[in-house]
Amino acid sequence: MFTREAKRWVATATVLTLIVGGGLPFKKVEAGAGPKVIDILQIPDFHGKLIDDENHPIAAVMGKNIEELKNNNPAGTLVLGGGDNYAGRYVPEISELTRGAAVMRVFNAFGMEASTVGNHEFDWGLETIYKNVPAQYPLLAANIYSRATGKRVFEPYKIFKKDGVKIAIVGAATEDYTQYEVPGTIDAYELKDIASEVNAAAADARAKGAEIVVANIHEEHDTDTNGRIFDAVAGLKGVDAVLGAHAHRDLNTTAKDANGNNIPLLIGRDRGQNIVHMQITVAADKSLSFANEQIPIKTESGVFPYGWLAAQPVISTNVQAIIDDELADIAAAKADKIAIDLGPVSEVTKNIKLPSKGANGSKIQWISSNPNVIENNGHVRRPAKGSEDVTLTLTAMVTKGDATVTQSFSVTVKPKGVKVDQ
Ligand SMILES: [Zn+2]
Repeated sequence: MFTREAKRWVATATVLTLIVGGGLPFKKVEAGAGPKVIDILQIPDFHGKLIDDENHPIAAVMGKNIEELKNNNPAGTLVLGGGDNYAGRYVPEISELTRGAAVMRVFNAFGMEASTVGNHEFDWGLETIYKNVPAQYPLLAANIYSRATGKRVFEPYKIFKKDGVKIAIVGAATEDYTQYEVPGTIDAYELKDIASEVNAAAADARAKGAEIVVANIHEEHDTDTNGRIFDAVAGLKGVDAVLGAHAHRDLNTTAKDANGNNIPLLIGRDRGQNIVHMQITVAADKSLSFANEQIPIKTESGVFPYGWLAAQPVISTNVQAIIDDELADIAAAKADKIAIDLGPVSEVTKNIKLPSKGANGSKIQWISSNPNVIENNGHVRRPAKGSEDVTLTLTAMVTKGDATVTQSFSVTVKPKGVKVDQ
């Protein structure tokens, strides 16, 4: 594996020591001594996969690997999200029922400092994943604009200072509207040209003192030499390296930018199969060299880099505690949902008592499909004498912590003048 990757190295970085066959792949980095080393760790296309169907501790093992990588270079490590962080196809219940909040708490524990925006960030409505959320990291996107205001929805970039080096991360989302799969969710937004928007952000970041600019673009390759991410890179100016995503396949290469420079281009696999690792060495003369790899963690390894298929997985207890909390909240909400009993509701003539709390600590909110007949608080207004029965749906939203589960009840209200033993 290292032979293949070594061939793809963009430049020889002399500070690196490779240990083949497990163990720390990189020499411990001493802050302030000699060339500066920045380790960027990017998590591409996580799709909410904190655990899988067989309960493999994907996030907890990923967290342990990140802890060790950060310990190796405490002053110079930057953790990024590659987009499609929370939603998508085959999303586990822990992410679906918490609308990404469980993932955000885990990413906070990873020390994530920024994420780009993927097409699946729109699946629940874009605002769901950035308004009133526990995420402590910003979403960055240079090319997502509101059609209503004509302005960017997110900051285009952020400058981080790592071991004294100012590095700008610019975000961007795929311009391919067909990738925004949930109908209507992209309608309020315009996706502008990645290259020109990233270039403008890069120039702005340089003017504000950024010494390194890395674009974190949620866009993919078709083959190892072409595809939409290569098209984007071909238009870039003033960007030192590109992290891609969206492909769910590895890519570790260089691509020609608009100035004719070959810049590093690195993409990893989805759902916690690996961690993308771009190591940038800044020499005394400020020249950059790169050592790029995908760190595999869908393995049976019991030594670093740890694998989540191991018989005895090595986990971050911090991350596991977050996941256990979320699973406990989901279990409580589900138990409270099952316990809701409205009694017979096929011939209603009186107000319905709607519970607002569950025995396991859930809050219950109600939504009526026809508030003119039954209000959200259960108050009944019967139809006029002689008119038809009205059937409607009362939906309970049962919330515990980040988790919300729903239960619907079909209710039929009898018109005035009809007597029923209720
Ligand atoms: Zn994607």
